[in-house]
Amino acid sequence: MRRVDWSKRCPQCWMHWRLCLCEQAPRLKVDTGLVLLMDRREACQTTNTGHMAPLVLERSKVVVTSRQEPPDDKLQGIVESGRRAVLLFPGHGAQVLTPQWLEGHSEPLTLVVPDATWRVARRTMRKSAILRRMQPVVLPPGPPARWYLRRPPEPGVISTLEAIARAMGVLEGQHVEQALMKVLRMMVQRHMWSKGLLEPEALVDGVPPPLPSGWTSPQRPFQRGFAPLIEADGPDKPWRGRSDDLNGD
Ligand SMILES: [Zn+2]
Repeated sequence: MRRVDWSKRCPQCWMHWRLCLCEQAPRLKVDTGLVLLMDRREACQTTNTGHMAPLVLERSKVVVTSRQEPPDDKLQGIVESGRRAVLLFPGHGAQVLTPQWLEGHSEPLTLVVPDATWRVARRTMRKSAILRRMQPVVLPPGPPARWYLRRPPEPGVISTLEAIARAMGVLEGQHVEQALMKVLRMMVQRHMWSKGLLEPEALVDGVPPPLPSGWTSPQRPFQRGFAPLIEADGPDKPWRGRSDDLNGD
């Protein structure tokens, strides 16, 4: 466990400044809301893909959950009134997200997505009456993970961002799925390139431009604002976590 040096990371995409992809990420208006329930330890990882979803999707919120605090303290009112929350989790009675399923739901939807290990996500569910009241949904069977930084522990396991992309493909359309997958591809390829695992010409979206000479990271990068995360933890107290992140800072 060691301290994460947040000044080395962009507060929006959370990539190291040299790899920041904010300029290239599209920003899409969507009807479906997104609430990402991000485990605090997960939020420290440079390999976390969930961070990318709010970059692309309007109507996104990130709630950073900790294993010590009851999740419902932060979840009160997180889904706007008039919207139906569906929880992307294989809970009891989970329904399969398909176009036919969507036809039966005319009300505005908010997709709630746990971003944690299965064990932690299950524990969060047990502790949250709010989450247990939500309708669980699952993705239909699909191809193996296309882009990932962590090798899937078993076939069929995909990253958080790819899961959101596939869900949004059903809920919003293929263009949203493709936009999210493009950002995932950029993230994965830039990481691999930075570690010497990919030649520059192999990057489909190109090598990130070099930082201007004399560039230094902002003294207080959180002032640039990352509204969804700040909303969860308070604008004056950006949290500082610890990480056993193996990917380096
Ligand atoms: Zn960035």
